[in-house]
Amino acid sequence: MLVAGNWKMFKGAHQAREFAAQLRIVEGRAPDIDVVVCPPFVSLEATVSSLGPESRIQVYAQNVHWELEGAFTGEISPSMLAELGVKGAVVGHSERRQYFGETDEFVGRRAAAALEAGLGVIACVGETEAERESGDTENVLTRQVAAIPEHERLVIAYEPVWAIGTGKTATPEIAQEAHAYIGSLHPAPVLYGGSVKPENAGVLLALPDVAGALVGGASLDLESFEAICRAGAEAT
Ligand code: PEP
Repeated sequence: MLVAGNWKMFKGAHQAREFAAQLRIVEGRAPDIDVVVCPPFVSLEATVSSLGPESRIQVYAQNVHWELEGAFTGEISPSMLAELGVKGAVVGHSERRQYFGETDEFVGRRAAAALEAGLGVIACVGETEAERESGDTENVLTRQVAAIPEHERLVIAYEPVWAIGTGKTATPEIAQEAHAYIGSLHPAPVLYGGSVKPENAGVLLALPDVAGALVGGASLDLESFEAICRAGAEAT
């Protein structure tokens, strides 16, 4: 069971350091599940150092470039992340696909480069509302999943775009169906993401093909993130 918190563009270095120190306290009394936090690039070092070497909580970046170095202004390479003590990266988040022109090809290249550098990867897939309504969900998932390499350090996150940051959560039936479909295409464990909160985490995380959660908004608050981690442990 893996619960990952995507902090999006929240928590600068100062706030990240304080939050990580609180997570460290909570971790001491928390159940034995895998926990990942994904701060913004500028807060990675503060989070890693505040959690310290003993923590079981891993720090992932929210994106990563596919080259190790070069003339790619504004980008961060896998080896730069590894040097900071970062253990992995999210790739293909729907906000990157929607607002920054991320393509399946680039998602695949980012994932492959991160894996090559020894990092873990959370690769996101998911259909938009229009794609679901027009009956294209399986085609979209097939196309997106086909670009994702197979590797033991890679997990997929199914994040229906219509459920991200909207408060709309996929029903257990929708989530289970999509997870089973992705499972028929790719061997990686599949996390669910999209308005996961303490109130719905128990039901979603207990679904047979749901291997954990990628949590956005609710991961910014210590109490709600802890409650979701607890729900994950109970569902295991
Ligand atoms: C996310 O950012 O990956 C996410 C699922 O966001 P939220 O939980 O806020 O919908």
